[in-house]
Amino acid sequence: MARRRVKAKAAPADTWDDVRKSYDVRLDALRYFRIVRPHGLFKAIEEAAEVHNQAVSAYVFGLPDASVAMTLRCLEVGLGHRYEEVEKTGAPDDLFSLIDWSEQYLGKKKEIAHGFRLLRNLIHGETLIKEQDAIEAIRHTTDILNILYPFETVSVDFPCNLCSATNSVQIAKEQCFLGNRLEVTRLCSNCQKETKTRLVVSPPLPTRKDEGDAQPGA
Ligand SMILES: [Zn+2]
Repeated sequence: MARRRVKAKAAPADTWDDVRKSYDVRLDALRYFRIVRPHGLFKAIEEAAEVHNQAVSAYVFGLPDASVAMTLRCLEVGLGHRYEEVEKTGAPDDLFSLIDWSEQYLGKKKEIAHGFRLLRNLIHGETLIKEQDAIEAIRHTTDILNILYPFETVSVDFPCNLCSATNSVQIAKEQCFLGNRLEVTRLCSNCQKETKTRLVVSPPLPTRKDEGDAQPGA
């Protein structure tokens, strides 16, 4: 995919309506990059989902510094866990060492070298973080975590429109990108009638919530 820089900067917000509009602009920017939520990591470390959600939420609500802090925390949690599994010893407590180790472990892959470079620069950046850097941090961190913790599908539960029984659907990895909206139609396992739901892949937060929306794999 072409890596053009998208204009993610939203207008300053004076009212809740402005906040909502800015949120949508930033969610669109995330959607453009097709950043797949790292469900493989969440499966290995349950609390990592909350860390990742906060990183993404801080970004979409216009708090890039908070977002990068949480993104780097998520990276540290993911790299540290893999380090301990592979090396059978406690992980180093600084992110630089963990990144060095990960680059070696992953065999200096060209496609992630740029990401590691950007993330290194953000660790001790002295100036305020730009929105564009926050989105890049989420993108590269998530790419790295998806390589370290691969997954194929995610199971999502949703209630039947007619009988309220819980049904499950498998969502392919490629569809699990932030901001994606999916229409799912299934035969209900209980009443055997056709049931439909709309899934929105976004951090589970007070976002716009339409009838029948569900949040995949929170
Ligand atoms: Zn049903």
